[in-house]
Amino acid sequence: MINLLRTCKDMHRLVAESMDRKLGPVQRIQMRLHLSFCDACTHFKEQMDWLRAAVRRFDDH
Ligand SMILES: [Zn+2]
Repeated sequence: MINLLRTCKDMHRLVAESMDRKLGPVQRIQMRLHLSFCDACTHFKEQMDWLRAAVRRFDDH
C-alpha cells in the first residue's frame, strides 16, 4: 500500500527534486494531495516555482 499522505519534509524533498527532473505519476499525485491540505507546502512550492522561472529567465541571456 502506497502511503499517499506524505510529511512536509517528504514534500520539500519532492518539490526540490521536481526542479531537476520530472516526477513519476505516484509522486505527482502525492504532491497534489499534500498541497491540497497543506498551506505551508503550497507556499513553499510557489516560491520554488517562482525561483525556477527566475533562473530560467536568467539562463536565456
Ligand atoms: Zn506540507
